[in-house]
Amino acid sequence: MPNEPVAVTCKVCGGHVHEFLDLGRQPLSDAFREPESVAPEFFFRLAVGRCESCTMVQLTESVPREKMFHEDYPYHSSGSAVMRAHFATVARRFLDTELAVPDPFIVEMGCNDGVMLATINQAGVRHLGFEPSNGVAEAARAQGIRVRTAFFEEETAARVRAQEGPAQVIYAANTMCHIPYPESIFRGVDALLAPDGVFVFEDPYLGDLVAKTSFDQIYDEHFFLFSGHSVRAMAEHYGFQLVDVDRLAVHGGEVRYTLARAGARVPSAAVAGLLAEEDASGLSDLTTLRRFGDSVLRVRDDLVALLRRLRAEGSLVVAYGATAKSATVTNFCGIGPELVSYVCDSTPAKQHRITPGKHIPVRPPTAFRDPYPDYALLFAWNHADEIMAKEEEFRRRGGQWISYVPDVRVL
Ligand SMILES: [Zn+2]
Repeated sequence: MPNEPVAVTCKVCGGHVHEFLDLGRQPLSDAFREPESVAPEFFFRLAVGRCESCTMVQLTESVPREKMFHEDYPYHSSGSAVMRAHFATVARRFLDTELAVPDPFIVEMGCNDGVMLATINQAGVRHLGFEPSNGVAEAARAQGIRVRTAFFEEETAARVRAQEGPAQVIYAANTMCHIPYPESIFRGVDALLAPDGVFVFEDPYLGDLVAKTSFDQIYDEHFFLFSGHSVRAMAEHYGFQLVDVDRLAVHGGEVRYTLARAGARVPSAAVAGLLAEEDASGLSDLTTLRRFGDSVLRVRDDLVALLRRLRAEGSLVVAYGATAKSATVTNFCGIGPELVSYVCDSTPAKQHRITPGKHIPVRPPTAFRDPYPDYALLFAWNHADEIMAKEEEFRRRGGQWISYVPDVRVL
């Protein structure tokens, strides 16, 4: 008899979580190793379920946060021109619509290298970033941005409220979905937010994940996969209200959720629109999510079959972008250096190391051109347009991209 999955309770409401997809044993997504390292790797079971009460989709096992967000956290938000433009737009929107009070104050949790707060700082507006990973926090400080190397939680937020007064905006990008203890976050927001302030966060959207079968959005850092319905339920559970939503194209499809204190603002028509769309597609239904799980298995089988065939034909196949997402793909599909010779990545901290779990060598971007491979598996598919424009020469010389989102195809 296989082991019965242990009963898992929802990290928001305490309801029962039904597992619908098991992605197997996975390493930490950013645990790139020295090639000669013999230290044991940390693995955990990556599986996803849905709460039968509030519909929140979440991992059934969480990784201790200190293992993920540490001194050497390798992801810099300002590494992409598209993302820099995105966050400048976010900042200008806050400056135009939310900060029109005397001496406004804006707080960001998980501010990374300060890509959003840089615009706020240039406008001379009082601000504070929380960032537990000191390497990226230092990069923000170097630009004159105020940062605390700390996790945003009830205690740290209350201390800021006592010292600096209430915040008109609390913002988080690709951070809320990382945090498996939302109660402490919401208590912190409750302590720090001005009565008419907004709590705004943007994260990968379950609707895009299901529509694109982008199962690689599921990895250690993405504990929650939010939908309009589940965020509305979470907001209400903690005394807040979902008052606006924006669909975003970044990171493969996200939604920006705007929350206010219950009764403080009138919800926009966009909220009702997103909820109606989710009802129509059955996004929150367990049957939809199980069907998504079946599609994931099909993508895995197709991708492995293609890579085996190309390798058997003698083609040079490499990968592009040693992303956090790619850990899920390589480890779930069983793709190692025997199928993908190496992966090229522009992050110096990853270069000349091997990928977590499957140990594919990571080389700098110059290796991509020396020689150009026959095929390049695009792990950084969320930056596809930017990358394909940059690597036009690869295609001109007959190279072909392999994508697996929404299905496996050679481009
Ligand atoms: Zn729940």
